[in-house]
Amino acid sequence: MPELPEVETTRRGIAPHVEGQRVSRVVVRDRRLRWPIPEDLDVRLSGQRIVTVERRAKYLLINAEVGTLISHLGMSGNLRLVEAGLPAGKHEHVDIELESGLMLRYTDPRRFGAMLWSQDPLNHQLLLRLGPEPLTDLFDGERLFQLSRGRSMAVKPFIMDNAVVVGVGNIYATEALFAAGIDPRRAAGGISRARYLKLAIEIKRVLAAAIELGGTTLRDFIGGDGQPGYFQQTLFAYGRGGLPCKVCGTELRDVKLGQRASVFCPRCQR
Ligand SMILES: [Zn+2]
Repeated sequence: MPELPEVETTRRGIAPHVEGQRVSRVVVRDRRLRWPIPEDLDVRLSGQRIVTVERRAKYLLINAEVGTLISHLGMSGNLRLVEAGLPAGKHEHVDIELESGLMLRYTDPRRFGAMLWSQDPLNHQLLLRLGPEPLTDLFDGERLFQLSRGRSMAVKPFIMDNAVVVGVGNIYATEALFAAGIDPRRAAGGISRARYLKLAIEIKRVLAAAIELGGTTLRDFIGGDGQPGYFQQTLFAYGRGGLPCKVCGTELRDVKLGQRASVFCPRCQR
């Protein structure tokens, strides 16, 4: 599933080729995403210049002169640049053709993604109640400490709550807790300020590292397949249940927390 680093990598990959370009046409082959793609998307977007491509949480905001295309990659979506006229495959649902002769192609086999239109994206119901971005100063350990007081839920689902901080998905929550030495099952309300300060730093570090690697993998973005295998080699805990800890050699344990698989080292994480 695309997480924040993949979405940010996509944004960085497409922005230089899309910003400043005028949209010549929008072709929608299948409107049935998580919510239907608006019938009038072509009418709304065609002829407009794309001003900026921004990201909020895992939403890409493609800002045109009037209005914004809000896109989410869902479980299996990707957005990449291809040459205009390239025949579409089975799951390639949308093409946004640009005057440059490239087009932005949206592919999504499982169709859990979204393509919506808004005149006021930051007040859109999907974005309105989101917590701060993890890589900004609005997010820090003090926020985690304050919001967690009195809460008995486990710390891992707590840091994955979009109202607390956005974009900390399963991979990065697992890795940040490992790096901070915190047992993911521990009650959020019982963790000290000092440990939350460390955890926030590790959340920022793992996300920044993943973005860095994603960017490297996708440097040839045009014509790329948009499915990079970034970051896999650097994982300490995620997906490694039953394997020896890379730090101490203890067998990593697999537990379910908030319906999500969670791997941790019973010796390194307390
Ligand atoms: Zn260990």
